[in-house]
Amino acid sequence: MLLPKFEFHEPGTIKEALELKKKWSSTARFLAGGTDLLVHLKKKIITTDHIISLQKIEALSQIRDNKDSVEIGACATMAKISGTPVIKEKFSALKSGVDNLGTHLIRNRATIGGNVTNASPAGDSLPALLIYKAVVLLESLDGKREIPIEEFFKGPGKTDMKVDEILTGFRLPTPPAHSGAHYIQLGKRKSSEINVVNVASFLEFDPKTKKILNTRIALGSVAATPIRALKAEALLKDKIAEEASFYKAGEIARTEDCKPIDDFRGSAAYRRAMVGVLTKRTLATAFELAGK
Ligand SMILES: Cc1cc2nc3c(=O)[nH]c(=O)nc-3n(C[C@H](O)[C@H](O)[C@H](O)COP(=O)(O)OP(=O)(O)OC[C@H]3O[C@@H](n4cnc5c(N)ncnc54)[C@H](O)[C@@H]3O)c2cc1C
Repeated sequence: MLLPKFEFHEPGTIKEALELKKKWSSTARFLAGGTDLLVHLKKKIITTDHIISLQKIEALSQIRDNKDSVEIGACATMAKISGTPVIKEKFSALKSGVDNLGTHLIRNRATIGGNVTNASPAGDSLPALLIYKAVVLLESLDGKREIPIEEFFKGPGKTDMKVDEILTGFRLPTPPAHSGAHYIQLGKRKSSEINVVNVASFLEFDPKTKKILNTRIALGSVAATPIRALKAEALLKDKIAEEASFYKAGEIARTEDCKPIDDFRGSAAYRRAMVGVLTKRTLATAFELAGK
């Protein structure tokens, strides 16, 4: 399958990229790693006359540790994120998410901005970004805009990003002491397969009383967008961090929070059952990590 013809542009700055986008408006597409875009072009799911590569814009691929937060450039690859010390030490669920995406080859090209813009409900980096309360950083020629990631996804393949905007990155607050997080994805094979269910959980507890102070649970592949399991989270508030609480949260997430569908990858009933199991497991591991 051949790629269609298009003009290729390689701006060196965000401003240049935005000016090129404005010039051709909706007929132009940004290219980051190309692992979604080029596939969609070959399959004729989308068409375009102008490709604007973001690969020469250095500022977009940087990862900055600000101590109270980390900023991840939209064009940081999954491999780069995985190997960055602050991510390994403080954002273990995000590291699991990016490590589970595709194969080595794909992770060396695929970017976090591309994964989020693609807005698949099954995207591997999305549940972790939700539980870490990521803020999406956007820029247009009119200025900058920030939006909590929970408000960014509008449906499969749909986001709040406007046609004249570029996604520049994400800001994630540094998790507090006595907190931990974990991510598990379930696919038909171990890698390079669209997830059947993927879950990330974050938990903060009081080491004296063992009470849960804060928890966030994100479910992927069980609704039109990745979602928070808000009822399960509410149930855990002020409960003792222990297996029985995690089990109950899994039951609420399974029965009340998710809205899965049947498709060729798995039935809705199987997906529900796995939401229960993975919610409990991710919470238990998050608690274990929080105690370290
Ligand atoms: C073999 C294979 C296996 C895969 N496995 C997985 C997997 O296991 N899990 C998973 O989640 N995904 C998987 N994917 C999908 C894909 O690799 C990811 O979604 C990847 O993160 C996309 O990033 P990219 O940089 O390649 O995006 P691109 O293909 O470059 O772009 C994707 C879309 O985002 C837009 N875009 C990109 N960056 C920006 C920006 N900064 N601002 C505005 N718009 C932007 C582009 O215009 C395009 O519409 C797989 C893909 C392949 C081909």
